[in-house]
Amino acid sequence: MADITHPTIQDGWFREISDMWPGQAMTLKVNQIIHHEKSQYQDVLIFESSDYGMVLVLDNVIQCTERDEFSYQEMIAHLGMFAHPNPKRVLVIGGGDGGVLREVVKHECVEEAVLCDIDEAVIRLSKKYLPGMSVGFQHPNVKVHVGDGFKFLEDKKDTFDVIITDSSDPEGPAESLFQKPYFQLLHGALREGGVITTQGSENPWLHMKLITELKKSCKEVFPVAEYAWTTIPTYPSGQIGFMICCKDASRNVKKPLRSLSPEEEDQQFKYYSKQVHEAAFVLPKFAEKALR
Ligand code: SAM
Repeated sequence: MADITHPTIQDGWFREISDMWPGQAMTLKVNQIIHHEKSQYQDVLIFESSDYGMVLVLDNVIQCTERDEFSYQEMIAHLGMFAHPNPKRVLVIGGGDGGVLREVVKHECVEEAVLCDIDEAVIRLSKKYLPGMSVGFQHPNVKVHVGDGFKFLEDKKDTFDVIITDSSDPEGPAESLFQKPYFQLLHGALREGGVITTQGSENPWLHMKLITELKKSCKEVFPVAEYAWTTIPTYPSGQIGFMICCKDASRNVKKPLRSLSPEEEDQQFKYYSKQVHEAAFVLPKFAEKALR
């Protein structure tokens, strides 16, 4: 495998250069490139890094690393799941690495968890090279659909209790998943009291305008729409946010509706806890003012 090359890797370092974060770039030291292919939708690269384990990169953007993925996967999954009293049917749009599914099926109330990712290559390669995440595909209550998330939702009405959109960034195949028509489809596909969580356009240091627009679109569709965030070293500026929205105007998504004992939390989670859930909605002044 040593003869595979990739334009983002030079002198043994991967560099994540993009107009989405001008003037800055995450770099990771590469032990070896494991796999590279151009799928039908995107450039798919998997490399082994010196300190972050295996790394999945789509269209030159880091999607997940074995070392810090739990922060993102736990938060995008459990902020929404714990904001619902009894989620039985759950849909994940994107999420082809399987990590969000792994978190969703920790909730024993879940009777069915459906995943819809546009790219079979991500699912296939994650099963081969990212076993700690793709373990989520092995649960008996999981169903997988390969296709576009927007199209998948078009004929779904009153079907799901929680829908989690774990997509790539708004450039490329995920573009439609950040716009108002998508939130309208999500709203229609949710049962009464349903909750959505969606990847919320990076973080306030880089994308305050995008986040403000995203929140506005969500608010036009859902009576409750709140922004939360998590820390994660390998995403731009070490932080990423989510929108958590609910169909029920009286729901406070900032507080978990169900909680585990501290011992159960220790056993189940590496990042999420009841306290972290509540703290995730507290924003620094500049962001709080912009989103007010
Ligand atoms: N946590 C990651 C991040 O924010 O960087 C996202 C990880 S997950 C691998 C992103 C997935 O979204 C990819 O597998 C990609 O194929 C999928 N995806 C992108 N556009 C999509 C669409 N329109 N419908 C369904 N899945 C989509």
